[in-house]
Amino acid sequence: MRWEDFRTSSNVEDRRGIPGGAGGLGLGTIVVLGLIGWALGIDPRILISGAEMMSGGDSGYQQQQGRQGTPQDEMGRFASAILGNTEDVWTAVLPQQANRQYKPPKLVLFSGATRSGCGAAQSAMGPFYCPLDQTVYLDLSFFQEMQQRFRAGGDFAYAYVIAHEVGHHVENQLDILPRVQARQQEVGATERNQLSVRVELMADCLAGVWAHHSNERWNSLEQGDIEKAINAAQAIGDDRLQQQSQGRVVPDSFTHGSSEQRVRWLTTGLKTGQIQACDTFRASRL
Ligand SMILES: [Zn+2]
Repeated sequence: MRWEDFRTSSNVEDRRGIPGGAGGLGLGTIVVLGLIGWALGIDPRILISGAEMMSGGDSGYQQQQGRQGTPQDEMGRFASAILGNTEDVWTAVLPQQANRQYKPPKLVLFSGATRSGCGAAQSAMGPFYCPLDQTVYLDLSFFQEMQQRFRAGGDFAYAYVIAHEVGHHVENQLDILPRVQARQQEVGATERNQLSVRVELMADCLAGVWAHHSNERWNSLEQGDIEKAINAAQAIGDDRLQQQSQGRVVPDSFTHGSSEQRVRWLTTGLKTGQIQACDTFRASRL
């Protein structure tokens, strides 16, 4: 992926190296749990246990102030550039396609653990979006794990992860997240998971919409990039991860969608570049 020319975002806060209370678990353990958590639906946590998170939020939240501005290291600069590019794309696309102004999210880079507007954030949770403070939380070591454990590396695969989280922010801007959350309070576990799958597949599709427009305007995709993202989407499908962690697949407990679904929705966004094509709540087939 050609990202060096992307404008870096001014909405990044770098809290790496600031102690956040990671506790006794080793970093490796936390990150591996995070990969599984990310794909099995701990992201976004608020969707799973909204009430709990709402009340658990905020305390001590002000204490941790990270560095503002573009990080100097390669991966930090990469995350900042991808976020900047999602801002440029969505600032143009959201008014065109949904008649709304885009208000960009913040991105907090952290290592180990930190505070979020949705409560304590740990690497173990994987990258996630907190709608309450409209912030994406990301421990960059997640990308190393994608590469090492799931053989799902590559800059466009990492960009897809960031764009997926930004996709949740777009869903929030479209008032989809609050409506789904309210509905999830009223229904049983199976339907709650199904709603979560729709939210997640839409975020995959919106990540594809971003990539479509980014490529159209900046010619950012290189040979093999799409395969890398598809490989990542496949590697982190619920069925694949469940098989790895439990040896069997339990569709009712899917919260992100199967590998096949994740790939298909990402591809839908990539091909069409249309928000409307991502409406997983209207789709006859998920
Ligand atoms: Zn998600």
